[in-house]
Amino acid sequence: MTAPVVAAPVVRSLSSTRGTGAPTLVSAAVLTPEREQWRSLVRDLASSHVAPRSAGMDAAARFDPELLALLGDTGLLGIQVPRAYGGRGGDLLDVMIAIEELSRVDPAVGVLVDVQNALVAATLLRRGTGDQQRLHLPRLATGTVGAFALSEQDAGSDAFAMSTTALPDGDGYRLRGRKAWTSSAREAGLFIVFAQVRQEEGGTAPGRVTAFLVERDRPGLTVGEPARTLGLRASSTCDVVLDDVRVRQQDVLGEVGGGDLLAVEALDVGKIGIAAQLLGLAHGALDAAVAYARTRRQFGAPIATYQGVQFPLAQLAAELRGVRLLVHDAIALVDHPDPAERMCAAAAAKLLASQVAERAASQAVETLGGAGFTDAHPVERLYRDAKVGTIYEGTTNMQLRTIASVILGGAR
Ligand SMILES: Cc1cc2nc3c(=O)[nH]c(=O)nc-3n(C[C@H](O)[C@H](O)[C@H](O)COP(=O)(O)OP(=O)(O)OC[C@H]3O[C@@H](n4cnc5c(N)ncnc54)[C@H](O)[C@@H]3O)c2cc1C
Repeated sequence: MTAPVVAAPVVRSLSSTRGTGAPTLVSAAVLTPEREQWRSLVRDLASSHVAPRSAGMDAAARFDPELLALLGDTGLLGIQVPRAYGGRGGDLLDVMIAIEELSRVDPAVGVLVDVQNALVAATLLRRGTGDQQRLHLPRLATGTVGAFALSEQDAGSDAFAMSTTALPDGDGYRLRGRKAWTSSAREAGLFIVFAQVRQEEGGTAPGRVTAFLVERDRPGLTVGEPARTLGLRASSTCDVVLDDVRVRQQDVLGEVGGGDLLAVEALDVGKIGIAAQLLGLAHGALDAAVAYARTRRQFGAPIATYQGVQFPLAQLAAELRGVRLLVHDAIALVDHPDPAERMCAAAAAKLLASQVAERAASQAVETLGGAGFTDAHPVERLYRDAKVGTIYEGTTNMQLRTIASVILGGAR
């Protein structure tokens, strides 16, 4: 899976999917046989192993451990991790295809795979030392879940106003504080924790934001009860309490004081992952609406024959194509030397994906009529799952702020 991100177009017949279900909506720019194979592998796994579990995981607000083990066994927890470390040796587009296909069925599974690959493993690959990579990447690739602990109760959009501290202690530091909203924290075995390095408790000198690799079994680290959320219920979102957790110098990820830049860079990739998740969610909603519209009959004919049902779905199908191109554009720009370019591309993809996902889920509920308002159909869950797309990894206003700072000046 080492093909370039935008490979030469390979025109392939889509006739097998035409007229028999929801549109395939695959961009020709990335239709290589290898990509198609990867997409259908993940799609098959999603339909045979994720779909049957989704309603139950949502109702129980718990990720099925058997499914987690399966994700590890099939390489979905280490998509970009090199083969030498037990991963699949894929690239960022492979990650995004997997997130999209899983989210088409269950966005809660998509977000776990997103955080694992696009935030935690990707950051280790970009900024980890050789020793850090040798230690952690094989574990991530084979089942250790990763989490990204940046936000705090009083430091959300303004994340670097965090109060968690790292105080010097011998050849390392002691972490003290409470991170909030950490996705996958209940399942996680490895956390990237952000803290302010200070010389002393309560000192007035500004802290230096720094990222640390912290294993779950470090004494002093505890994970709170998952928040009870509107959607994405199978994905745990917890506080992570750090009560004098001892970390070593070699657990610093990147540079001391370089944690803010590292986080921004990581979130630029993470936002593309969220855009892919929301794209999958929107696609799943459209799949359900199309399938229902074809079979539901009113006034003596399938409702799909009425223009009032067709056109909103056609509009969404067009918008999905646009969002997919934005995701691919952001992937292509991820290593652009001008940070403003990659920030703007990631923010635009996430912003528009979140808007299309909300509309798609809402339209799907309407297309199913009363049935869509019940939990007998997955669109009810997708409708709840869609909302957080406008909040996490930067709210809608934060994406607009990023884009505004690029087009109006300030980011360069
Ligand atoms: C399900 C879920 C999972 C999450 N997972 C993670 C995770 O894994 N790791 C992690 O670190 N965090 C995670 N988060 C936290 C998430 O990133 C934050 O919720 C988000 O950044 C917003 O912060 P906040 O909730 O404190 O809202 P606030 O920052 O308080 O914002 C509230 C409102 O004010 C607006 N606002 C704030 N400042 C401005 C401004 N300057 N201009 C205009 N509008 C503004 C915002 O747009 C928003 O509408 C998660 C959150 C959720 C809900």
